[in-house]
Amino acid sequence: MTQAVVIDKTEDQQTVTLRDVSAADLPEGNVLVDVAYSTLNYKDALAITGASPVVRSFPMVPGIDFAGVVRDSSHADFKAGDKVILNGWGVGEKHWGGLSGQARVSGDWLIPQPAGMTARQAMVIGTAGYTAMLCVLALEEHGVTPDSGEIVVTGAAGGVGSVATMLLAAKGFQVAAVTGRASEADYLKSLGASSIIDREELSGKPRPLAKERWAGAVDVAGSVVLANVIASMKYGGCVAACGLAAGMDLPTSVAPFILRGVTLAGVDSVMAAKAKRIAAYDRLVSDLDLSKLDAIATELALEDVIETAPKFLSGAVRGRIVVPVN
Ligand code: NDP
Repeated sequence: MTQAVVIDKTEDQQTVTLRDVSAADLPEGNVLVDVAYSTLNYKDALAITGASPVVRSFPMVPGIDFAGVVRDSSHADFKAGDKVILNGWGVGEKHWGGLSGQARVSGDWLIPQPAGMTARQAMVIGTAGYTAMLCVLALEEHGVTPDSGEIVVTGAAGGVGSVATMLLAAKGFQVAAVTGRASEADYLKSLGASSIIDREELSGKPRPLAKERWAGAVDVAGSVVLANVIASMKYGGCVAACGLAAGMDLPTSVAPFILRGVTLAGVDSVMAAKAKRIAAYDRLVSDLDLSKLDAIATELALEDVIETAPKFLSGAVRGRIVVPVN
């Protein structure tokens, strides 16, 4: 028996409990993993609170990522004792996830835990940090370099934003960190932000074009925030868009794209190919000072996950929440 967060739905009522599950309860898969750490991500908070219909079948164990040790495997790439990481693939949405002592998944979804990174570090980074890395890679693919100019990061005090700020600063970029929480200015500067921008500045009605400011952007917000970012991109700039913390809409025009050659690069971590994931983790190991990850981490016990989820959606969480499971 092991403990897991379980979301049930009966008619229109969703309930979430911490309860015992056995290996026999776990879904099908060719690799059984003893989970060492999982995390609480934005999507997990949506699943646990039911604020958005991210869970596709019930009962469901949330947890879109985990790091752990293989207990049993019939997959050619993994054997008992291997250290592995999982991010996405619909785990925690369509397939039982990481907020559980054990998880049974397809070995095709796992990647090896990179040398030089502990399971805890992998999960402090988590899906949010791995997505931040994909965003930075997207900017690089579009030719954005530290010489191109300043990069704006929205939702900077959140999970994706904190890691994006650290990664970009470590590579020598000037980072303008957008936050709705003035109280997090010192935190953001400690991660490497060179300036802080009040989210209010990017929350007004977007104009088609504004003064050219940014060579690149990492956006977790969407909606008017993203539209204002796009309007302020420098000629040839690139926006890596990965989130919808402000909303799903995008009230913009084609002007920045056809008059300034701006690129809007969509970033998805969930279905990204295995090779891309491994490349992203390699870069996380080489680019991040892993000893600094504690600055963005808050540890949360498995039994406190359910009551903490609503706080996540109110934007009250700083950095990353890591959940030690075993
Ligand atoms: P967090 O909750 O940790 O961070 C989101 C941050 O956005 C908040 O901390 C806050 O930062 C800011 N924010 C909150 N509300 C608003 C608002 N109304 N307008 C503008 N900014 C706001 O979440 P994550 O960093 O884990 O995830 C961020 C987004 O990225 C989510 O939408 C998530 O679904 C998405 N995501 C997408 C992935 C993908 O594969 N595409 C993978 C992972 C995440 P501050 O207080 O500093 O303003």
